[in-house]
Amino acid sequence: MATSFLTKSAMGVDQVEPALTPPTIKPVLPKKAKLGSGKSKTKKREIPEGLWTKCPSCETMIYDKELDENLKVCPKCQFHFPIGSRERIHSLVETCTFEEMDAEMTSVDILKFTNYKSKLERDRKATTLMDAVVTGVCKIGQHQVALGVMDFSFMGGSMGSVVGEKLTRLIERGTEGNWPVIIISTSGGARMQEGAFSLMQMAKTSAALAYHAQRRLPYLSVLTNNSYGGVMASYAALGDLILAEPAAMIGFAGPRVIKDTTHAELPPGFQTAEFLVDHGLIDAIVPRREMKEQFVKYLDYFASGKNNA
Ligand SMILES: [Zn+2]
Repeated sequence: MATSFLTKSAMGVDQVEPALTPPTIKPVLPKKAKLGSGKSKTKKREIPEGLWTKCPSCETMIYDKELDENLKVCPKCQFHFPIGSRERIHSLVETCTFEEMDAEMTSVDILKFTNYKSKLERDRKATTLMDAVVTGVCKIGQHQVALGVMDFSFMGGSMGSVVGEKLTRLIERGTEGNWPVIIISTSGGARMQEGAFSLMQMAKTSAALAYHAQRRLPYLSVLTNNSYGGVMASYAALGDLILAEPAAMIGFAGPRVIKDTTHAELPPGFQTAEFLVDHGLIDAIVPRREMKEQFVKYLDYFASGKNNA
């Protein structure tokens, strides 16, 4: 049976020849018609999905457009949803000032790790990114900045040779240009498919930051949900200022691993940004919608210090 026939009658537009005669009465669009059950899965997915998102924290249904306009923050309870790297960059930099670096750099499956190539291919298609970080130079306020933004949707934001190399080049560009560096992290840790090559990125990025610091240039690290593993054990923890988004989960190993290893009860709020501010690892929590304003404030402050030095 033709699906179009079913859809048309379900929409309440009966017996009208739509191609020839416009309907005399306005078709009343009823509530989203449910296509008959027993249809294929792809049909089902076409219905209202993608219009509304349920907040996992307060369970409010949020209109997707509203969520996008609010930078993927729940307007009711301020829960911070994951946000793509490009969307985040757009929310932070002055219009048309972002010049991307190394946009085409891609990973090589050097260890011939099972399924690595196909996973890379899958995520490249799904995200239109080439790897888990986007880097470039831009203006934030009146400041020229070297900015790197990680993206959790590409293999869990894992750090392999491409993430490490792109960030190292970014930091070196910042050092050459005498610019501050800002890196916004979200990562499950080092990319296991690249084994020791991933681990080497920790030393490489840290060394580049040390040269940057020798020039007395500021580095701002922003930790977003979630920031774990090799990323936290290297550049993400080395900021002159370390900021975090509200309720971000941050640590080296996850809480379950720590609990199983230490056989101890973990304190409430363990590894949340709020807990880590209280314990001195993080300097400040900045809600996403205030991030740009705060960056400008901090960059102004650092620039004034430099001018007075
Ligand atoms: Zn909410």
